[in-house]
Amino acid sequence: MLGNTGLSESDLRERVRAFLATHEPRQTPKQDFNNARFDAGLAWVHYPEGLGGLGLSRTLQAVVDAEFAAAGAPGNDPERNGIGLGMAAPTILAYGDAGQQQRWLRKLWTAEEIWCQLFSEPGAGSDLAALSTRAVRDGDEWVVSGQKVWTSQAHRAKYGLLLARSNPDVPKHQGLTYFAVDMTGPGVEVRPLRQITGEAEFNEVFFTDARIPDRDRIGGVGDGWKVANATLMSERVSIGASRAMPRESGMIGPVARTWRSRPELRTRGLHDRLLQLWVEAEVARLASEQLRQQLAAGKPGPEGSAAKLVFARLNQEISGFDIELAGADGLRYDDWTMHRPESANFYGRGPGYRYLRARANSIEGGTSEILRNIIAERVLGLPGEPRVDKDVAWKDLPR
Ligand SMILES: Cc1cc2nc3c(=O)[nH]c(=O)nc-3n(C[C@H](O)[C@H](O)[C@H](O)COP(=O)(O)OP(=O)(O)OC[C@H]3O[C@@H](n4cnc5c(N)ncnc54)[C@H](O)[C@@H]3O)c2cc1C
Repeated sequence: MLGNTGLSESDLRERVRAFLATHEPRQTPKQDFNNARFDAGLAWVHYPEGLGGLGLSRTLQAVVDAEFAAAGAPGNDPERNGIGLGMAAPTILAYGDAGQQQRWLRKLWTAEEIWCQLFSEPGAGSDLAALSTRAVRDGDEWVVSGQKVWTSQAHRAKYGLLLARSNPDVPKHQGLTYFAVDMTGPGVEVRPLRQITGEAEFNEVFFTDARIPDRDRIGGVGDGWKVANATLMSERVSIGASRAMPRESGMIGPVARTWRSRPELRTRGLHDRLLQLWVEAEVARLASEQLRQQLAAGKPGPEGSAAKLVFARLNQEISGFDIELAGADGLRYDDWTMHRPESANFYGRGPGYRYLRARANSIEGGTSEILRNIIAERVLGLPGEPRVDKDVAWKDLPR
């Protein structure tokens, strides 16, 4: 029996098969198919009934996904809406009200609406609570002005998770409020930022008196820091340990394939290093699997920071090895024209692209230095950094 629902694993398989019998995957338009899958509770089975799930254990998702894949079902393109699925959805589930959950989660899961994250600013990255984008209440609406930066996929997003300062007269962590903002509305301007890879996956976003209805506020006024922390915890798990990965997936995959197919590149020294990296990648994969199983029982905690930290270090080391293994070919870059990619792609293209893209892995989703601080303080219980803002109003701090 699964969870409290009285549904066995074979009942669950039966349920998927019954669904497939009435929704022939190859004849039903993709959007209709995915809408119906959500309504049947077979989208993310650990979500509550009525919100795309059945209230089952998260580990059972694999059972459902395998059945749908075997039937040639279209899927919801999770790589196109990574921030939506990995960060917006758990935040909306934890802090959104029932109306927001009903309005947003279905189109989020089907990727009809893409989400982005509007946290970082030119003057606030690691010290996120120092952000200065203002949200001023005006009746049933909020008026937002300011600038965000490094906003991945903002150019494709319908909604953004926005953290803004609603009260400058209290200590900085207490003056923040969290919203979902319509990225296509007036007063929101998205401009591309080109990265070292040549692509522009991310953007800067300017708000000029953009209006957000109060019903799109997520959590209480002044509770933005608490809600944002839920998003950040989910972000680290989503980057570092997002889904079940088979052995030799991730960055080690293309390296192992090159090693097998190009024996002329092998040397004894490279062999030793490859073995070391392979073992580390496998340990990280198994540790991520364990983390996902822990997550089945509760919300992400600071342990996700360790998974993300290891993910970044290994990606950088393995992609460096990848370049070295390719010899002179590794220095050739395949394509430096400006693209607006559909999603972040850590493992695609050639070794040069993977090497350059991996540089960002220790910055995005919290820098490795910040994650080490979190592990030191919240996992190991070491003394924290001195906090300057304890009793000081934000507006009185030097800027
Ligand atoms: C590819 C990519 C995608 C991104 N996508 C998004 C997105 O979609 N939405 C979004 O909001 N943001 C996004 N970001 C921004 C990212 O979250 C920030 O870059 C990150 O939090 C660091 O902030 P910063 O760049 O302002 O650097 P800073 O905070 O200025 O840090 C500079 C350096 O100082 C170090 N440092 C700072 N404080 C400390 C400390 N207390 N102890 C030790 N070292 C410290 C940092 O580790 C870093 O090395 C993205 C970044 C990248 C690279």
